[in-house]
Amino acid sequence: MNIELTGTLYIVATPIGNLGDMSIRAIQVLKDVAIVACESSRHSKLLLNRYCIHSRTISYQEQNDQKGLKKILYHLSCGESVAFISDAGTPLISDPGYRLVSSARDAGHNVIPVPGCCALIAAISVSGLPSNQFRFVGFLSAKVSQRRSSMKSLCDCSETLIFYEAPHRILATLEDAVQHFGSDRTAFMAREISKKFETYHRALLGELYELVKSDPNQQRGEIVLVVSGKQEKTEVSEIESERILDLLVGEMSLSKAAALTSKITGVQKNTLYKKALAAQTKIKAD
Ligand code: SAM
Repeated sequence: MNIELTGTLYIVATPIGNLGDMSIRAIQVLKDVAIVACESSRHSKLLLNRYCIHSRTISYQEQNDQKGLKKILYHLSCGESVAFISDAGTPLISDPGYRLVSSARDAGHNVIPVPGCCALIAAISVSGLPSNQFRFVGFLSAKVSQRRSSMKSLCDCSETLIFYEAPHRILATLEDAVQHFGSDRTAFMAREISKKFETYHRALLGELYELVKSDPNQQRGEIVLVVSGKQEKTEVSEIESERILDLLVGEMSLSKAAALTSKITGVQKNTLYKKALAAQTKIKAD
């Protein structure tokens, strides 16, 4: 009889700062598997030592790591279980692991997540910005022109936007964000989540830019930037805008009433002014 062996590949989330955020299950899985494949074995040593995890480790960097991929698939095909961890947080989220998971699935192996920390989820959970729908943009290009064209394409997106950004680029990114999204969108910056010097700021985008510009400490460490999506102006019916205009015309000049109604309803000031003028002319003629 031909017995087909198949191991399980565990995708294990690890802390993004505070090592205490490691889950009990994650520790157990890392202890139980035959091999822990790490984005960087040297980096992960600290975590593994802290929890007395002595499983064999190998490095797997994904980019041009055909040899590493084959090795992991070989172990899985021998019926051994392998865990994969990235340097921090959930693997595959702006981290390596996609090719590994895809190849393991293609080969018919079980792939099981061990959920845990993820910087974007931690950030949006405390941002106070709408979280029912959001778009994770991840890292924008380091090239200025590509970064700007990505922002341009996101201008009309109504979902909350989430960016990962490097500290040396945060100011330039905020400046571009103000240019493309406008200074009055609500924004939130989470820095060094779960670490000693964690900070959280919620402000209008323009204010956040000024704050980060004036405080070099805000240009250090690991950063998640959250920006509210484009808010559609709710359409006010023609009847409603005329009602507001009528009320205001009794209290102030035509031009002021038109300007204020325009602000309230979003209807063009000129259109409203013409309407008010026509109504006034009609009343006088009657
Ligand atoms: N896989 C990780 C996750 O699940 O969030 C993300 C890895 S990505 C290479 C690293 C980026 O994630 C950082 O540049 C930063 O934007 C964000 N990040 C990671 N840890 C963070 C932290 N403690 N505080 C704020 N942002 C963090």
